[in-house]
Amino acid sequence: MSLNLTFYGAVNEIGGSKTLLQHDGTSILFDFGKDFFGGTDHFSDRLKPATYLPIRDYIRFGNLPPMAGLYPAAQVRFLQQEFGTRLSEGQVDGILISHGHIDHFGFLPLVDVSVPLYMSAETLEVLRFFDETGEFDLHMDQRPVTVLEDNQVVRVGGCDVLPIGTDHDILGILGFIVRCGDTSVVYTGDFRLHGRHPERVRAFFDLVHQEKQHARTILLTEGTRLGFGSIDEPRENEIQELAARTVKGASGLVLTNYYILDTERLKTLLRVAQETGRTMVLQPQHMLLARKLARFDSELEELMTHAEVYLARRGTGKYLAADYRLFEQEYLVTALRAADIAADPAKYLLQLDFQDLVELVEINPAPHTVFIQSGGEPLGQYDPNFNVQMKWIREFRMDFYRIATPGHANELDIRDMIMQADPDILVPMHTKNPEALDGYIKRTVALKKGLAYEF
Ligand SMILES: [Zn+2]
Ligand SMILES: [Zn+2]
Repeated sequence: MSLNLTFYGAVNEIGGSKTLLQHDGTSILFDFGKDFFGGTDHFSDRLKPATYLPIRDYIRFGNLPPMAGLYPAAQVRFLQQEFGTRLSEGQVDGILISHGHIDHFGFLPLVDVSVPLYMSAETLEVLRFFDETGEFDLHMDQRPVTVLEDNQVVRVGGCDVLPIGTDHDILGILGFIVRCGDTSVVYTGDFRLHGRHPERVRAFFDLVHQEKQHARTILLTEGTRLGFGSIDEPRENEIQELAARTVKGASGLVLTNYYILDTERLKTLLRVAQETGRTMVLQPQHMLLARKLARFDSELEELMTHAEVYLARRGTGKYLAADYRLFEQEYLVTALRAADIAADPAKYLLQLDFQDLVELVEINPAPHTVFIQSGGEPLGQYDPNFNVQMKWIREFRMDFYRIATPGHANELDIRDMIMQADPDILVPMHTKNPEALDGYIKRTVALKKGLAYEF
C-alpha cells in the first residue's frame, strides 16, 4: 500500500508547516501553521488574500490542501459554485499539532470546527490563551480535541500515532511517529539540543532508529538553522549567569524582553530576580499565560508567586475598569503602574514587549537603565522594528544587552540526530537550506510545495 506526503508549507522556508499524510483511505495532517508573509511568495503585509474567502487564494497558490473535509461547508459550497474550484472529497481523520507556535497552528481558524485535533495538554492551554486574548479566533471550546500523553499510542484513522515529548523553546512540544502499514513516518516538529532537556530529543531519535527493525522509516526533520554557521549558542543556565551578572551591575531599573510563550526563559528571569533581590513585573498577558502553564510546571508555579503585574494606561488613560480586557481587570487594584516603577526603579525587573516601550515616556528611566533583550521581538537586525527599538535605547541612554539562545538545534546537532536515526528516507523541511543535508542519507528528498510524493 503506497503512502503519499504533500507539503503545503515549510518548503524552502521557515514557517507555515502543513504536511498531509495519506495512506489507504486515512488522511492525517502534521501541523496547520500560518505562512509568514514572504513565505507565501504571493502575499505580503499589503497584498492579502480575499477577506471573504481566504482559503480560495491560499489553495490557488498551494498553501492549503484542496480538501473539502477541512473547511466549513458554506465556504466549500461558495468556493465550488462561485469559482468552480475542484476539491477532493473524503474526511480528514485528524490534525496533529506539534506545539503552540504560530507557524504550526496559525491557520487553524480556517479549519472547520468538526475536524479532530490532537495535541499535548500544554499546547491546548496555549491555544486557549490565544482565544482568550483575542489574538486568534480558534474557538477551541467547540473543537474535538484529543489530549496526547507522552509515549502513549493513539489510533487515528487506520494509523497508530506515537507522540514523544522533546525540547523546544515552548512547553508541550511533541515529535510524532506515525505507523501506517509497513511504513513509519516521523515528524520532528521543532527541536533543539541545548535546552534543558536534550535527553528527550536523543531518546526520540533513538526510538526512530529502533523503528527500523519493523518498518520503513521516513524522517521529516526541521532544519531551521541549516546554513546559519552558528554553533556557539549559550545554554539556559549560561543565560541565567549572564543575566544575573548584568542585573547585579545595574543601579537603577532593569528592563527585559522575552518571548511570551517561552516560560523556560521566564523561569530563568524569575530566578535572576530572586537572586538579585528584585521583583519581576509582567504585563497582564504574560501573567495570564504563565499562570495557565504553571499547572504543568511546579517550579514555574512557585517562582510566579513572587511576580507582580504591570498595568499600562489604556482607553481613557485614567485606569478605569472599562479600559481593560476581562483578564486584565482583576489586576486593577494590585498592579504596579508607571508611577510605582518610577518611584523605586532599582527594586524591579520589568518585562516590556516591543509595543510596550511607549511606557518609558511615563517611567522616564535614568541613564544606564539596563535593557536585556532575551528572545522577544524584534529578533534581529533584519526586522525593521530593530532600528526603532534601538532609537528608544539611545534616546533613554540605556545599556543594551542581548542575552538569548535559539529555539532550534544547530547544524551539527541536526546532522548528528539524523545519522543516529539513520532513516530510509530523509525529508528536510522548515529550512531555507535543505541541501545542507544532501549526501548524508542515501535517499534525501528535495521538496516542492503542493506536490504529492508517493513512497
Ligand atoms: Zn516552534
Ligand atoms: Zn516552527
